[in-house]
Amino acid sequence: MRRIYMDHAATTPIHPEVTEAMLPYLGERFGNPSSVYTEGREARKAVEAARSQVAEALGADPTEIYFTSGGTEADNLALIGTARANRKRGDHIITTAVEHHAVLEPCHYLEKEGFRVTYLPVDGAGLVDPEGVRVALTPSTVLVSVMHANNEIGTVQPIEEISSICREAGVYLHTDAVQTAGALDVEVNRLGVDLLSVSAHKLYGPKGTGCLYVRKRTKVQGILLGGGQERRMRSGTENVAGIVGFGAAMELAARECRERSDHVRPLRDRLIEGILENIPHTELNGHRQRRLPNNVNVRFSYIEGEAICLRLDFQGIAASTGSACSSENLEASHVLLALGVAPEEAHGSLRLTLGRDNTTEDVDYVLEKLPPIIEGLRAMSPLYPGH
Ligand code: PLP
Repeated sequence: MRRIYMDHAATTPIHPEVTEAMLPYLGERFGNPSSVYTEGREARKAVEAARSQVAEALGADPTEIYFTSGGTEADNLALIGTARANRKRGDHIITTAVEHHAVLEPCHYLEKEGFRVTYLPVDGAGLVDPEGVRVALTPSTVLVSVMHANNEIGTVQPIEEISSICREAGVYLHTDAVQTAGALDVEVNRLGVDLLSVSAHKLYGPKGTGCLYVRKRTKVQGILLGGGQERRMRSGTENVAGIVGFGAAMELAARECRERSDHVRPLRDRLIEGILENIPHTELNGHRQRRLPNNVNVRFSYIEGEAICLRLDFQGIAASTGSACSSENLEASHVLLALGVAPEEAHGSLRLTLGRDNTTEDVDYVLEKLPPIIEGLRAMSPLYPGH
């Protein structure tokens, strides 16, 4: 059966050019970058070349890039590493209620270590008010962490405005750019951030690799202790093949970013309009304009997102409810609840995230299959008033 993949926010297929770049490092070029002999030096050269590719894509210096095992570790390092290294300066962190769990869980952990964390609210479209950041700042605030764009609803935050407020106050700003690298401009100086997390598998690279950008002179201490790799910031033998793939994926993303967004944006709009026009009792989650070019997230009253996903899967369509990371969790999405969506409504949400291989035919296929699925599920729902 024809398969249509529309869950690119969960993960993306590896780009063929990325696979090609990685292959030698899964085979004959197996050296450890810390070894002094030829095989080691060859691996070191590959890691440093990838560091330059990543730095170039972010408009950063290679010495500001620290490779990690992906977005989760980059976020943990940003939050825990910065908080601990600046403990003497203060004990207060500001973040938002809609962050990924990779930021929220380290915040909860830091609270147990004695830090105080402010979780800023968002408006009904998922936007953080920069003035809210200003008001929440205290003399003991050491770090503000606001994601660039939300992984569930695609809302893009006003990072530049938040950055000027943080700069004025002399407080570090971290952004989780896991969903925006490869989709939007993530040039660190334009955004004005001190720390920025990226994950390779969201931009046609391999899983299990990514990086934390750390602006020069930002005080961060490593959280993985051991052999002292990554200039003592992240111990552990480097994932050479993964890092090489990440570098190639970032270079491709920087080159194709505009083209990729221009490809998916009209498909996104066709999907949103097609769904809202043809299916009653349906609302868009997130901001209509300030949203990722590939993100569609809609909620259908009276039914369950899980059931919609399963039925779409039977029709060959891969989509998700809320976020992939919480799809085994039956609690309503913390993001939708923060927007003020009622829990029973939040459960009826569906996320479709487009990618470079999706076509207008794919969109039209979804628009053909979805309405009867929704109608069928509502016909079985005791909550549906239209019986
Ligand atoms: N941050 C955001 C916004 C994400 O969407 C994800 C993954 O879903 C992560 C962090 C975690 O990244 P990784 O899967 O590389 O650990």
